[in-house]
Amino acid sequence: MTYIGGKSGDREEKEHLLAGGARSAGGRAWSRRSLLGLAGAGAAGLVLGGGAMPAQADSTSPVNCAESFPTDLVVPFHGDLVSRTELWEQPTYYLGNTFTGAYDAAFYHRIEYFLEDWYYLLPTHWRNPMRINVLGVHVDKANSWHMYGRAIDFASISMLDSNGGNRFTAFECAVDTWGTKRDFDIDRRRYWGAVAAINYRSADVLHYLYNAEHRNHVHMDNGRSGTATTTTFNSGSPVLVKTVQACLTYIWGISVTIDGIWGPQSDGGVRTALTRIGLTGTISTAANWKAFLHNSTWYGARNGYSSSIPPAPTTRPDKPL
Ligand SMILES: [Zn+2]
Repeated sequence: MTYIGGKSGDREEKEHLLAGGARSAGGRAWSRRSLLGLAGAGAAGLVLGGGAMPAQADSTSPVNCAESFPTDLVVPFHGDLVSRTELWEQPTYYLGNTFTGAYDAAFYHRIEYFLEDWYYLLPTHWRNPMRINVLGVHVDKANSWHMYGRAIDFASISMLDSNGGNRFTAFECAVDTWGTKRDFDIDRRRYWGAVAAINYRSADVLHYLYNAEHRNHVHMDNGRSGTATTTTFNSGSPVLVKTVQACLTYIWGISVTIDGIWGPQSDGGVRTALTRIGLTGTISTAANWKAFLHNSTWYGARNGYSSSIPPAPTTRPDKPL
């Protein structure tokens, strides 16, 4: 056998060039950047970003919020951002201080849509004003949608209980504190219910099952969903598949493997869940996707699915543009 020593090297070089060519031709190469380092947070609450890091699989960036940010994507400078101390008229805070966020205008409205959807689906004794605690919105020098004011990191959201007037945490994103104020399973169900509501308005929601850096916040951005007012199910997004699998397991009581891989078990679980609320098929249709997410929110705030609790009302139209 004649073996030319350079062959294997040539092939590797070719593959290397192909990989590089794919990036320059518009292929997706996900960035991994340090983001939202907490040092240097000013009085206004804006969080400064950490330094850029090379795109390596073993990145040790403290917070990785950049799943949806292609490194080769040329996005114009963000231009004017709107400065706000509230979302849907609910005040925002950073570490206990009033928070002024700089938002892309369209993204700001997507967050408001989420809050309105969520509020509508929660028990009626959960009342406003919310206190929305965030870890950051706009931050320059970070290669993520935060740079464009198109991402927000939620730390927690509290509300008032009209049965007694106490303030309580309706959405706790610090997963390591679950179970310290109430039953662990209640915190977890509320968490996934809220994540489901966010996912209806934003395609990319990063949570603790995405990576360990998201154990203290939930990241929402509209990098992929853009100006669309609603989303569709994407079985090719591992983090989104994990959201569906977690909702099935923790809210619907339908245990499936939470691995981010879409297969017959997960699809069967979704079909079972939809059947329980009078629907057929899977979440590939817009109506079923909305129903699955919104009923996950609905039951997530009500101690999980129960046949004695009717499904969420479906008569409310989507908010117009
Ligand atoms: Zn983030």
